[in-house]
Amino acid sequence: MKLEPAASRSARAQLEGLRAGNGTRVLEALRAHQRFVMCAHENPDCDVLASGFALGLALKRLGKDVKYFLDGDVPRNLKFLPESSLTQRTFAGIAGDALFIFFDMSDQARAGKALAWVPADRIVNIDHHLSNTRFGRWHYVDDREAATGMLVMHLILGLGVTITADIAECLLSAIISDTGNFMYSNATSRTLRAAASLIEAGANKDRITEHLYQMRTFAAQKMLGKVLDEAVLTDDGIVYSLVTMSMLAAANADHEDLEEVVGALRAVDRCHVAVLLKEQPDGAFRVSLRSRGRVNVMAIAKRLGGGGHFRAAGAPVDGPADAALQRVLAAIRAEIKA
Ligand code: 5GP
Ligand code: MN
Repeated sequence: MKLEPAASRSARAQLEGLRAGNGTRVLEALRAHQRFVMCAHENPDCDVLASGFALGLALKRLGKDVKYFLDGDVPRNLKFLPESSLTQRTFAGIAGDALFIFFDMSDQARAGKALAWVPADRIVNIDHHLSNTRFGRWHYVDDREAATGMLVMHLILGLGVTITADIAECLLSAIISDTGNFMYSNATSRTLRAAASLIEAGANKDRITEHLYQMRTFAAQKMLGKVLDEAVLTDDGIVYSLVTMSMLAAANADHEDLEEVVGALRAVDRCHVAVLLKEQPDGAFRVSLRSRGRVNVMAIAKRLGGGGHFRAAGAPVDGPADAALQRVLAAIRAEIKA
């Protein structure tokens, strides 16, 4: 499907963003190479997967060979994405000259153990995190964009590939997901124009929001209730809660069911920083941090060895639970002081 006139105007504006930015070298790499591996991080979210699928679809239209690497399963609520049935857990069939495209990751470690071996000179880094380290040989990083999917949209237009309905579906999913359905402050007029042009190109907004926000399992909603019930609000505006493996087991829930929880903690009027600590199968924890704009949670996450955005960040934290919580609270208070 060709872009309609209004969408073309918007597309031109997007392209100008690309020319002004640092994406031109990435475009050259995409044009010059033939084989690509789209790489997702552990516990993948919609932005990382949909960005890979969108660029993969576009590169295939140029006759290139595309593989999707994911060290795990596609989350249940993202199985509606075009290409989602094509992910592979091994490097079978991947040629020695393939380029690895890392999406939505601020550093290579974020990709997880399975991709740690990939040498920098074969990595393309496409990302919108404030804390991006510019790893890899080519990078296109712009933290002003709401989603990595926005950067991918610029690249696809730059490649001269028509935004098909499937590509549009992926890109709009990435944007909707990373803006919290256009609620967060990262959804600007530019983001909304891009979204409008994607709907005009065939993306089904209602289907996407249905899958992302209206298909929660009963167990997930029960879990949300439990985590909110146990949440603590401190005098200095920290709202925290903690989920253990045994709590998940008792509710017949899993980590995928926790996506919405930290946002619900942040919604508390007196909250400056929301904290959700999640026990992992190995007994270690991961922390999700959210801010309502005054405190930089990316800086807090960095103190803990993680990263992210100003208002949304995460990090690994060693157990046991008490020590993990104290470490996170100390990092938050140190950052507020600084
Ligand atoms: P979430 O809390 O949803 O897992 O992550 C929030 C944001 O922080 C996302 O943009 C995610 O990419 C980033 N993030 C989460 N965990 C880590 C981490 O361990 N390292 C880095 N660099 N970024 C992370
Ligand atoms: Mn993202």
